Amino acid sequence: DPRLKAISEAIRVVPHFPKPGIMFQDITTLLLDHKAFKDTVDIFVDRYRDMGISVVAGVEARGFMFGPSIALAIGAKFVPLRKPRKLPGEVISEAYVLEYGMDCLEMHVGAVQPGERTLVIDDLVATGGTLSAAIRLLERAGAQVVECACVVGLREVKGQHGLNGKPLYILVEPR
Ligand code: IMP
Repeated sequence: DPRLKAISEAIRVVPHFPKPGIMFQDITTLLLDHKAFKDTVDIFVDRYRDMGISVVAGVEARGFMFGPSIALAIGAKFVPLRKPRKLPGEVISEAYVLEYGMDCLEMHVGAVQPGERTLVIDDLVATGGTLSAAIRLLERAGAQVVECACVVGLREVKGQHGLNGKPLYILVEPR
């Protein structure tokens, strides 16, 4: 797809952020480039519009930057998967292991109905730990996770270990 090169180039790489040795993939510069941003959303919309998906679940915070546009275009609802203690209503929580320590994703009870076909979206997948927690959370609520989608992903994770056997769709690799 000829659009992918421009999408990749619109993502700024910031060395040593947030700590030494990390090459941070900064998608905020993609959001500044109208064509590349629209192409990104369009590629996801074209892929998911006829897959019977009624829920797009976005992972805080950068999944919120792509998920709602996709949800509106494919006729689905948007469900935020949030960091702890952000959601005011009754929640279910799923903990996951990070490189240093633990984190947790939460979702409002009643946000998804049993059997609903769900797409999980985030900006980037590295180890797949965050997406795996998102999948567990949604499945505990009875949702059917059809696929996970990220703008940026490492090829080692793509379609392999992790993600509880769910398919992963990525647009570009980290630069
Ligand atoms: P994983 O759980 O190891 O797959 O890490 C993915 C999570 O970390 C996602 O929620 C990303 O937003 C975040 N993340 C890790 N590295 C980067 C990066 O370079 N840019 C933006 N987000 C990142």
